[in-house]
Amino acid sequence: MDVRVRYAPSPTGTLHIGGARTALFNYLFARRHGGVMILRIEDTDQGREVPGSTEAIMRDLRFLGIVWQEGPDVGGPYGPYRQSERLGLYREALDRLERAGYAYRCYCTPEELEQVRAAQRARGEPPRYPGTCRHLSPAERAARTGQPYVLRLKVPEGEKTVVHDLVRGDVVFDHAVLDDFVVQKSDGMPVYNFAVVVDDAAMAVTHVIRGEEHLSNTPKQLLVARALGIHPPAFAHVPMILAPDRSKLSKRHGATSVGEYRDAGILAEALTNYLALLGWSPPDGEEFFGLDDAARVFDLDRVQHTAAIYDIRKLEWMNGQYLRRLPPARVVEAVRPFLAAVGIDLERPPVRPAVDPEGAVVLVRERARTLVELAEALKFLYLPISGYDPQGVAKHFTPGTGPYLGRLAEALEGLGSWTANELDAAFTRLAEAWQVPRARLIHPTRLALTGRTVGPGLFELMAALGPTESVARLRQAARWLETGGTEAGATP
Ligand code: GLU
Repeated sequence: MDVRVRYAPSPTGTLHIGGARTALFNYLFARRHGGVMILRIEDTDQGREVPGSTEAIMRDLRFLGIVWQEGPDVGGPYGPYRQSERLGLYREALDRLERAGYAYRCYCTPEELEQVRAAQRARGEPPRYPGTCRHLSPAERAARTGQPYVLRLKVPEGEKTVVHDLVRGDVVFDHAVLDDFVVQKSDGMPVYNFAVVVDDAAMAVTHVIRGEEHLSNTPKQLLVARALGIHPPAFAHVPMILAPDRSKLSKRHGATSVGEYRDAGILAEALTNYLALLGWSPPDGEEFFGLDDAARVFDLDRVQHTAAIYDIRKLEWMNGQYLRRLPPARVVEAVRPFLAAVGIDLERPPVRPAVDPEGAVVLVRERARTLVELAEALKFLYLPISGYDPQGVAKHFTPGTGPYLGRLAEALEGLGSWTANELDAAFTRLAEAWQVPRARLIHPTRLALTGRTVGPGLFELMAALGPTESVARLRQAARWLETGGTEAGATP
């Protein structure tokens, strides 16, 4: 069987973590089985549509590296791929259901239905359509011709529908808990539970992989399929994603959309890796894997039943790991969009360090968790020092430091080679000659060269900054100290 799966978002906003995970599982499953991934836009509820969200969702999917072979942008043999462009198909299928007697017109007004529900509530019963119009006689029906109506599916009484779920096993739904649900609204539009069945069949979808919140829709979709004479696809409902306190994931737990994570400097590699682990784990138990690795081994039998816990700190930790593990060229590409915000223009920086951008990110990436932090950490290499951390000043720019910095500048200027090892040795020599602890030279130097007290190893960063810039910054700090801090903003 040629596997065909679909990700079917409604264009009602941006791509969220849950949707991204669903899309990812579909994508991995399709790749694992050499199948096709479809992107279908479910836009029949036009009142809820947010303009531009289809494009935003596609952009976020592409950011994650999720690729589809059929969809509204690329077309395909089973198009169109927007439900609003497939209304004729639904109408035809709805007519067929009605003619065959599987669906009937219901003329109950919203007020009548509300009265029924209120009475049910008062009796402590769940809301359920009582089948009023199911039992209309032909004469009663004829008398209502021309009145607004919805179409309801005739749910067979006294039966059960079993969902053979590939993740959860058999889940049985007694029809006593289902009522004759609406398949066509009074404006003629199909409901989600109807359109999805028609489309999955028409698009030859073999596996429906989606969030557990849709499990309760599945018996309805199976009943629609049965009435239409359609062989249903296989279903796999993937577990809910909950917050660490096991409540529903929401804004108050932090960012919930893919775009927010991208803007916060999370790498696509880290996000997809983390999302894949929300409900799935690879057979070798390895925690770090790329999309290609996951696509080689992904299967539904390793999808867990229990809820997945979403922990933003773990994602950030993982992102930090990826910053260290990815090839430097990839990290440079990823950090580029974050540089402008900190004032760095890699093509024309005011300061030109002795390393190329790849060397620069390798130098600072050990301590960064996000691309935002990485961009911030690159500043000292590409921008002049415009001030010193006040706590660092209090601690390391003590009285008498200025002359040391000036003498250091002089001594280092004459250094034959400017490598981390050579600098390390030079500091040892000078500390001995001047009879001061090495730390007395190291800490003020770091503050002079970076404006900060933390960062990469001093000798590595000096090597990266290069002799001219390092010496100039030592002199700038010496001057700053001599003048009592009035030249804080001076450029060397
Ligand atoms: N449009 C539905 C949603 O956004 C799709 C559900 C499904 O995959 O069947 O949740």
